[in-house]
Amino acid sequence: MLACRLFLYDEPRSSSLKIEEIASYIKSLWPNLEVCCRGDFIHYHLSHLPDLHKEKAFQELAVKWAGLRVVSLTEKEGNKEVFPVEADYEKRRMKSLNSRASGILYKGPQVVAMLMDLLPSGEKVPENIHVIFTNQLLGTWSEEDSRYHARVSIYGPVHVISTLGVVVAPAKPREYYFLRRSFASLGMEASQEMAGEFMQECLVTEDPRLTGVLKGYVCQALFYYFTGNPFCHNPYCRLYNAHWQKELFTCQLSGPPEFCADHQRAILSLGQ
Ligand SMILES: [Zn+2]
Repeated sequence: MLACRLFLYDEPRSSSLKIEEIASYIKSLWPNLEVCCRGDFIHYHLSHLPDLHKEKAFQELAVKWAGLRVVSLTEKEGNKEVFPVEADYEKRRMKSLNSRASGILYKGPQVVAMLMDLLPSGEKVPENIHVIFTNQLLGTWSEEDSRYHARVSIYGPVHVISTLGVVVAPAKPREYYFLRRSFASLGMEASQEMAGEFMQECLVTEDPRLTGVLKGYVCQALFYYFTGNPFCHNPYCRLYNAHWQKELFTCQLSGPPEFCADHQRAILSLGQ
């Protein structure tokens, strides 16, 4: 390697995300890789604009975000008609650095393309690796079952990792859904009780284990960049593509070793 640089963009709205800790972890694996931490991606790349232009850029982005909303999990097309109230919401939550995610699902690949467009041309160079954390929920359309699925991460020209996606995308145990239905049938809100019950094997919002888990997703982004393949079939390797919360805990937090033998070797050879 490695004349390349990794830029990690913070999600300041997620208090349990510690990107400096992730940066140190990545440096421990790839000591020759330059790693830079930056603030919120959109704020960072609009910060050079004068106020009037910045406001216009936020407005344009707000309309784009609203147009990328998934209106129904089984409808491939996004939000065809953006209402001003939707764009206003998107602008407010983008501008605020402590807004909470509402759980609206957005068309992931198109969000990646939209964010990529915000990069100045000097930064859109092959040696730069941009990893963007967001508290928004991104989905991809599956032709297999003709519906959208929430994702933890989308790897592409820039890499986006969702702090909410990691809580909701990998499925929880079937008992969780059974209990939730049982509580609902009694007219009870069960989330707190159930969060306690399932805390051991499910991530919850603002979980203190979030940063430890997301280290593996940044490694996946780096493997995507280096090799074109972010994933591993070994369920004890941080590159495993977990579909269940239990698998997520096994692959991201049960080490050492944190990687399978093949990927340990690959990390060493990519670091040369
Ligand atoms: Zn592996």
